[in-house]
Amino acid sequence: MRLITQAKACGYQFEITAMKNFSKFAVIGGSGAFLFLGGEFGKEIGARKIKTPFGVSSPVHFFETDNFSFAFLSRHGEKGYEIAASFVNYRANIWALKEIGAERIIAWTGPGIINTRFKVGDYLLPSDLIDETKGRKYTFFEKRGLGFIRQSPVFCTQLKSSAKEAMKTLKIPCHFKGVYICTEGPRLETPAEIRKFKLNGGDVVGMTLIPECFLARELEICYMPICYLTNFAEGVNKRNFKKGVLFEGMQREREREKVNNVQRKFPKIIKEIIKTAFSDERDCHCKDSMLRYKKAGIIDKNWRSWVKIKNKI
Ligand SMILES: [Zn+2]
Repeated sequence: MRLITQAKACGYQFEITAMKNFSKFAVIGGSGAFLFLGGEFGKEIGARKIKTPFGVSSPVHFFETDNFSFAFLSRHGEKGYEIAASFVNYRANIWALKEIGAERIIAWTGPGIINTRFKVGDYLLPSDLIDETKGRKYTFFEKRGLGFIRQSPVFCTQLKSSAKEAMKTLKIPCHFKGVYICTEGPRLETPAEIRKFKLNGGDVVGMTLIPECFLARELEICYMPICYLTNFAEGVNKRNFKKGVLFEGMQREREREKVNNVQRKFPKIIKEIIKTAFSDERDCHCKDSMLRYKKAGIIDKNWRSWVKIKNKI
């Protein structure tokens, strides 16, 4: 196959055996995403782990439903919360999605609330990001002169419009503006950190969107997250310590039930967004984020050659 030949020429291999395992749409699922692998996304037509220059990706599943198809990857594992956000191989996952032809990624994530205009169980399409992570692999372009990619708007506006329309169609209330602070984890934040984040303009706090969204843009993939809000962050509301449960008392029983309910709607929401966006041609900045370098002849159309690959896999 032509793609395998190209990949081998770049010094690595990947495991795609059938052309049907390509999809222009990809979904990255957050905590609990593995629960939906049992059929709620439609008919599964295949699954692959993909070898990339940055290691092996999480399994990529391919689904067909209502006359369209998409790929799905569970960020934290396939059986439970097996990999904390700090240790996800973001580069392998984003590379793998590019490899299977993804042009647009919808990501879901469950941050905590800093700004009390939000409630537990609300949906939010965030509008901006602040990086408070400390030691992740932020770029595909190590030891190259590539970079200076503009981050405003930081998320794909076209995909966000489709998501807004989809939420309206489904009559699901949703916020469209909010700043997501991404922390390193895997621990939760201290009260003083949350106060600092609030002063810095943060509305919600989570651990997953960085570097995922920046890596997607480096490979000219549209990226848009949907947040479901899981709890009030430390110190925002008074919560007694509770031993031996998730968030140790920061999430009340009734809030947990609410969160479970909003999580269950994700397959429906995701399918509606893809259905809304499926026939659109991409008309956004994301697809040309590397155009300046292409025009200058610094890189060519073969995106696999944009990275310096040290070790053959
Ligand atoms: Zn875009």
